[in-house]
Amino acid sequence: MTTIPIFSAREQYIAFRREIDQAIASVVSSGHFILGLNVSEFERELAAFIGVMHAVALNSGTDALYLALRALDIGPGDEVITTPFTFFASSEAIVQTGAHPVFVDIDPVTFNISPSLIEAAVTSRTKAILPVHLYGHPSAMHEIMTIARRHGLHVVEDCAQAIGASQAGRRVGGFGDIGCFSFFPTKNLGAFGDAGAITTNSSALAGRVRALRAHGGSTKYLHGEFGVNSRMDELQAAVLRVKLPHVERFNAARYLLAQRYSRAFSRIEGIGTPLESPDSQHVFHQYTIRVPRRDDVRARLAVLGIQTMVYYPLPLHLQPAHAGLCLRSEAFPEAETAAREVLSLPMYPELRTDQQDHVIEALKGAVEAADTQSEVFV
Ligand SMILES: *Cc1c(COP(=O)(O)O)cnc(C)c1O
Repeated sequence: MTTIPIFSAREQYIAFRREIDQAIASVVSSGHFILGLNVSEFERELAAFIGVMHAVALNSGTDALYLALRALDIGPGDEVITTPFTFFASSEAIVQTGAHPVFVDIDPVTFNISPSLIEAAVTSRTKAILPVHLYGHPSAMHEIMTIARRHGLHVVEDCAQAIGASQAGRRVGGFGDIGCFSFFPTKNLGAFGDAGAITTNSSALAGRVRALRAHGGSTKYLHGEFGVNSRMDELQAAVLRVKLPHVERFNAARYLLAQRYSRAFSRIEGIGTPLESPDSQHVFHQYTIRVPRRDDVRARLAVLGIQTMVYYPLPLHLQPAHAGLCLRSEAFPEAETAAREVLSLPMYPELRTDQQDHVIEALKGAVEAADTQSEVFV
């Protein structure tokens, strides 16, 4: 049986093997592993790619979110508005600062925070809005920035899934005060371990994050405040520097695959294909459909060797860790419906069209079978 993974890093490594091996070997033989030339050059290259003045390389996307909020002096007593339909790190970072996450339901079309619901959630304690560009599709940044300006709020973009995505011709990570990126191996720009970064146009904020990533000190052994140890490794920076110049091409390959999926599913009843806002460029970190009897469809695909994932099965307001927020179940109906219906299909730049055709045929069959005989399989 052919098995088709939802993601594979192997093909990309093979394609760049010579350059990557050389980059790694040169770090190892230099003996310089922390905050060297690869990190500073990667910061320069990433800032140029996003179109901002500064980037600061960190050891994860989670730390990027946490240190962005810390740099904006967000802490106990403050509220940060975000989406309940995202990876846990988005709200975890808010809680880590001592601030309080305030969830706002999603737009069912884009899966991102619904801009029309944000203002009702603003209170005198609100300090920031933290939109997530889920699956690689930009949040409604024009509306979000307008609301933020009106109420004097900061904006921290969670760009973990959306490197290279743009709206109105501008790349995400350059709209808000700070953009937060992850280079977790499965992301559109993937390292060989944990890595992340922030982007900003403010030299003050960049300097603050630089200090916070190294125990709160900008001079060795002099600590102005309490920070963390969150530097990107030279080895990871060296790998990322090989791949960054190709990210646009990787994203374009994802885009073509997404169009191919959507064309194939357009006439099939019961499959909701992802939509792209007219002013946005989606980078398809995930190709995510909506499908009724999702778990049944997923099980049928698994039997055929096709790996799919559910991002995310439980919205954040229902996570046990957030029980202290005392939010009702059904408080965010669109997020809860999405959590029941979404299914992400195999998607990575090197996915071959014959593999994709196999996924398409299998999914058509699974949806039909789930329709007619769901009781057999559930
Ligand atoms: C991956 C991800 C993160 C966390 O990034 P790490 O590098 O794994 O810490 C945060 N937010 C979203 C939306 C993500 O997908």
